[in-house]
Amino acid sequence: MIYVEKSAQNTSLAELAAKEHNIEVIDDGFDIEDKKSNIVISCHTDNFVHRCPATNIYRCCNYHVVDIMQGCPFDCAYCILQLYLPHKHIRVAGNTDNVLQDIKSAVKEQKRRIGSGELSDSLAMDKTIPLSKIIVPFVNNLDNILFEFKTKSDVIDNLLNLNPKNVMVSWSLNPASIIDTEEPYTAALERRLKAAETVSDYGYKVGFHFDPLIMSDNFEKIYGELIEDLTSRIKEESVEYISISTFRCPYELMNIIRQRKNPSILTKGDFIKGIDGKTRYFKAERIKMIHFVTKKLKKYWNKPFIYYCMEHSSIWEKILNYDPGEREEFEKYFLQI
Ligand code: SF4
Repeated sequence: MIYVEKSAQNTSLAELAAKEHNIEVIDDGFDIEDKKSNIVISCHTDNFVHRCPATNIYRCCNYHVVDIMQGCPFDCAYCILQLYLPHKHIRVAGNTDNVLQDIKSAVKEQKRRIGSGELSDSLAMDKTIPLSKIIVPFVNNLDNILFEFKTKSDVIDNLLNLNPKNVMVSWSLNPASIIDTEEPYTAALERRLKAAETVSDYGYKVGFHFDPLIMSDNFEKIYGELIEDLTSRIKEESVEYISISTFRCPYELMNIIRQRKNPSILTKGDFIKGIDGKTRYFKAERIKMIHFVTKKLKKYWNKPFIYYCMEHSSIWEKILNYDPGEREEFEKYFLQI
């Protein structure tokens, strides 16, 4: 059900949603049933754009996120939202004019990569809440931006009627068997790859996030097959960048993962407490996993920039023979693309 708070009733987003779906208008702050299938369009005055939260112990690429939607219809075992959000339902900012102005201000001084996939999946809800129709035309009129929709869905129909100029679409990828057990309700691997092929043929830049890599007995076999499938289907020239990182999480999230109804493969892993306090695989294991995926990708693709999200400089040096530096320094590698 889509609920619209009274203060958001006349927003263009509420009007777009009401064109194709039944909506119910509610008082601001009214408590609706807290479940993933409920959506609330409301207005709020937060700063919508901010730097990706990071510690300075691990390398961060100075990515910026826009928090226009909070909550996700998918149910990944490792999802940080289980810990971060106090609600299961999905909340969307109806005052998109404020969101767009915040995006514009963020790129006034310099080029930035900004994405909407931090507190939600960027496209999973795009049929019902067509944010892409509002965001894409706006960012295409800005000079200094690469806007990223990051998804585990195959909801791309709206994108196929829009200009891809300043936009990239990226998919988080895992082998089919991991998707089946760890990423409930997301699009199957085949559907993600098909969607990536379609938008890349249409003219969008695409990206891929091998994040989180999850260890299993047949890790090299299943990730190797995934990379062979990906690289044989997607044109290398359309790939903007690729991130790789292993599973990590605050230790409180491990307790939530252990209590999930369907046991996660993550409950069988051996982990340490990293220097930022997060639960991570042992360093030697992280190196092995990241090295394997990097080497396999580089076997087929030379051009796309590969980076490691929130990994220690020593891992960069060990595998890629350089340290990208911190924040602004690291960001320069993307701006050269
Ligand atoms: S797709 Fe992303 S936001 Fe949605 S449940 Fe999975 S990890 Fe969480």
